[in-house]
Amino acid sequence: MFGECHAHLFMNGYNYREAVELHKNGVQEDDLREKLRQYRDHGISFVRDGGDALGVSQYARALAPEYGIMYRTPLFAIHKNGHYGRIVGYGFDTWKEYHTLVKKAAEQDADFIKVMFSGIMDFSREGTVTEESLTAEEIREMIHIAHEEGFAVMAHVNGAEAVRHAVEAGVDSVEHGNFMDEDCLQALAESRAVWVPTYVTIINMIGNGRFDDASLCRLAVRQGEKIRRGFALGIKIAAGSDAGAFCVPHATGVIDEYHMFQRLTGASGEASAFPDAEGTPGLVFDPAGRMDTTALMTKAELDARLEDAEAEIRQRFCRT
Ligand SMILES: [Zn+2]
Repeated sequence: MFGECHAHLFMNGYNYREAVELHKNGVQEDDLREKLRQYRDHGISFVRDGGDALGVSQYARALAPEYGIMYRTPLFAIHKNGHYGRIVGYGFDTWKEYHTLVKKAAEQDADFIKVMFSGIMDFSREGTVTEESLTAEEIREMIHIAHEEGFAVMAHVNGAEAVRHAVEAGVDSVEHGNFMDEDCLQALAESRAVWVPTYVTIINMIGNGRFDDASLCRLAVRQGEKIRRGFALGIKIAAGSDAGAFCVPHATGVIDEYHMFQRLTGASGEASAFPDAEGTPGLVFDPAGRMDTTALMTKAELDARLEDAEAEIRQRFCRT
């Protein structure tokens, strides 16, 4: 059974503003208990949070053991002011301020540091990221300072250049990693970083109506090919869905992600690792049959790969 390597317990999977409203005047314990129950009921016993600015994941961490869940959180994510990331954490302008935030995370017993290096996939401008990424120097310094304080670094990062810079600077996990090129994938394969593609953040929006389906399908093919290539290159890939994000429900999000990995590696057609979710989803996102979905590995091999990557995360994303 796999864990969820990228979730945001404070979000609800459909409306960010509503999630903020719910918790902004104090964490709503009932809401968290319901989400933790869902994870437990789906047999998920490991959750790594991606952070929030309302203290929700800190609260959830205290409750999680009651549900038999090992829950790890950075508490909040850190972004450079003026760049993407405010929705999940706090910003900084100077290195002194960044260091203060890392120390604040340490004081509050964060398990690791979550940083934001780039924007998000821009669904209204296909193939682009919403903004310029941080520079190589900024990326290197942010990772360096966090490592110096004994933390592993989980990085939200998209775009070939930014991902390569993060990997070269020794980042511990690459989150999303959209729009990588072959060089970048090779660098990732040679590094110790774990990649958490959160593929269902694209897939699950198909048919929702918010964005153009044809465009989403092209993005799904494009990113799906990279993930398949990543598996072929031996990159450590872990299952994490960004649960709580739009169209990605808690608990079932990572099950969807796992099923997509089965499809992308051609390891489908066998029983699901999740007892209550048989088979792979029938979603048609590649009507032209452009993608190669011949068997790259067996399901047992896929499971072993995912288990290894998750073990790496469980072991490393815990402050030493
Ligand atoms: Zn996230």
